[in-house]
Amino acid sequence: MPYKLIDAPLLTADQIRTRVYELAQAVESTTSEPLHLIAVLKGSIVFLADLIRAMRGPITLDFLAVSSYDANLSSGTVQLLKDIDTDIKDQSVVIIEDIVDTGLTLEYVQTLLRSKKPKTLQSVCLLSKPSRRQTKVAVDHVGFEIEDHFVVGYGLDYEQQYRHLPHISIVEVTSEQ
Ligand code: 5GP
Repeated sequence: MPYKLIDAPLLTADQIRTRVYELAQAVESTTSEPLHLIAVLKGSIVFLADLIRAMRGPITLDFLAVSSYDANLSSGTVQLLKDIDTDIKDQSVVIIEDIVDTGLTLEYVQTLLRSKKPKTLQSVCLLSKPSRRQTKVAVDHVGFEIEDHFVVGYGLDYEQQYRHLPHISIVEVTSEQ
């Protein structure tokens, strides 16, 4: 599919840095317990790396992988590609997600993790597109609310490209070749 990467960042590296620091403080201030962070691969890796370095700890990490997207279109069904490796029973768990769009992925992940009986379960998402929501999923901490754009950078991809960008930009799918 032909597409165009918009040069001007939607969110600059500075804006992201400041907000990620605030999110780290907000997450840690909600509990004095050790936190077990579970990042949803692959889009959240850059966010996770910056978030944990802004935290005091103690924290531990785990990862899970789901698939719901084909290029830039949501398939509407979520599949578990990799489950967590740790026992989260009675732990204070925080889901780290890159972006909440329809909300179906986060809802799936929350249901999966809740079934493993954590003590508490919070969700932190760098980005949210409220206008696209198809479910009333609860997100405890949101970095930025954005309009209905497909975005890349800071871990987010378009066909596996652009994850390395330090800022977040919009990709426009065009009809021209
Ligand atoms: P949802 O299930 O909320 O519709 O979608 C969540 C997942 O879709 C995210 O974890 C992310 O992988 C992908 N996604 C949704 N919107 C975007 C976007 O604008 N850019 C990118 N790169 N991925 C997105």
